[in-house]
Amino acid sequence: MKTGILSVQGAFLEHELSLKRASKKLDFNADINRVKSSQQISNLDGLVIPGGESSTISRLIENFEIGYAIKEKADQGMPIMGTCAGSILMATEGDKAVQKSNTSLLSLMNTSVKRNAFGRQRYSFEYSVDIKGVCENFPGVFIRAPAITECRDNCRSLAQIEGTTIAAEQENLLSLVFHPELTEDLRIHEYFLEKVRDYL
Ligand code: GLN
Repeated sequence: MKTGILSVQGAFLEHELSLKRASKKLDFNADINRVKSSQQISNLDGLVIPGGESSTISRLIENFEIGYAIKEKADQGMPIMGTCAGSILMATEGDKAVQKSNTSLLSLMNTSVKRNAFGRQRYSFEYSVDIKGVCENFPGVFIRAPAITECRDNCRSLAQIEGTTIAAEQENLLSLVFHPELTEDLRIHEYFLEKVRDYL
């Protein structure tokens, strides 16, 4: 189970730790590595796109020419989980703030996103999230989080705050606007690794 964390910018170390701990807990013995080249990505069975700064990550994806490899693997059915900035990059459509920052979206999911939808850094908050089919009462950490303003076609909204989607799934693809890697709770990483196992 070769599982990669896109490591060009953002919270990749925290995801690496969470995946390693979740793999151990599940007794999966997954091979977890940081990746940043298309060759590394084409060898994977699962990929995490972390939170960080979506405009910066998108620029680095372009510089390293890895967007095509990610898209190809997504189309092949490889599980990909994007968190926070990662959920922006996985979307097909972004609001004005996304467009203004020149963020090129990977267009993996039938979602529209709004950047910084819950306010600025000082409005970061924690919220207990029920994620349909995944887990209940998950301690969601929201840091300048985007919102998923629309899920179209085969994309399903899994969790909401006052009607706004904060987690969505489209077959092999999982998008979360919060940071599961910043808590001790491993249930989302376990769910993702189970998706990777089922893909193999
Ligand atoms: N607001 C950031 C962005 O738009 C995302 C914040 C995060 O990933 N914690 O890129």
